[in-house]
Amino acid sequence: MQIGCHGSVFTGSFDTEGTRLAVERTAAAGFDLIEIPLLDPDLLDTASVRALVEETGLGVTASLGLSAETDLSSEDPEVVAAGGRLLGRCLEVLTELGGTHLVGVIYCAMRKYLEPATALGRQHSVDAVGRLAERAAGLGIRVGVEVVNRYESNLLNTSRQAVAYVEEAASDNLCVHLDTYHMNIEEPDLFTPVLTAGERLGYVHIGESHRGYLGSGTVDFDAFFRALAGIGYDGPVVFESFSSAVVHPDLSNTLGIWRNLWSDGDDLAAHANSYIRGQLRSVASIDQH
Ligand code: MN
Repeated sequence: MQIGCHGSVFTGSFDTEGTRLAVERTAAAGFDLIEIPLLDPDLLDTASVRALVEETGLGVTASLGLSAETDLSSEDPEVVAAGGRLLGRCLEVLTELGGTHLVGVIYCAMRKYLEPATALGRQHSVDAVGRLAERAAGLGIRVGVEVVNRYESNLLNTSRQAVAYVEEAASDNLCVHLDTYHMNIEEPDLFTPVLTAGERLGYVHIGESHRGYLGSGTVDFDAFFRALAGIGYDGPVVFESFSSAVVHPDLSNTLGIWRNLWSDGDDLAAHANSYIRGQLRSVASIDQH
């Protein structure tokens, strides 16, 4: 199992320099993996970032949320095609970086919708994400659809919805991506949705209820980590936190990051690394009870 950190803990700028800084500090905090937001995949000099990543020994994954212009759940085929092109470019960049997973809100726009998803829009999304996952399989990259709260998607708000979506898309390379921050808003508890996803679960985000320091909010991490152990989960577990101290203008506005919950990303990251590993050690010991 790889324990990772989202780059937004360290920087709001994901050009080559910003990404290098995030890679160095993720490694320094003790993580195994960095998740790089690929909101603009063409900002990176992939060769130099890959060289640094290999030096640190970190694994690499990438995530993004689509916009209204690239919304795969649009009824407009041209918008869907634009989303397909962006995600195809992300796969190329991730391949150049030696990455293993492309995840996030890659199946619709990451925004507050003002109406429910339509049947046609949902079908567009399922078809396009299924094709993306099949293409990614040939590159050795797993694709995950992140379940987020109702203010960030109208399509996948619960684990059960994501399992149905993944089964419809019919690609073995497509998995469910759960995030404790979103689960805390939409799910009945932090245990059941993990069992619901079962072997379909392929990626995990660890976030607090307010997206700050782990253990300072209301997320039931004890239940969540027990559930991961219960299904024998072995995929990436990635810490995600956002503060107005570190701002990416598009991402932080979309996510509603208005408050400063921390100012020292290095301290936050080292604390999260230790917190997650401590939880995993605790649940592993249950086997001996
Ligand atoms: Mn997340």
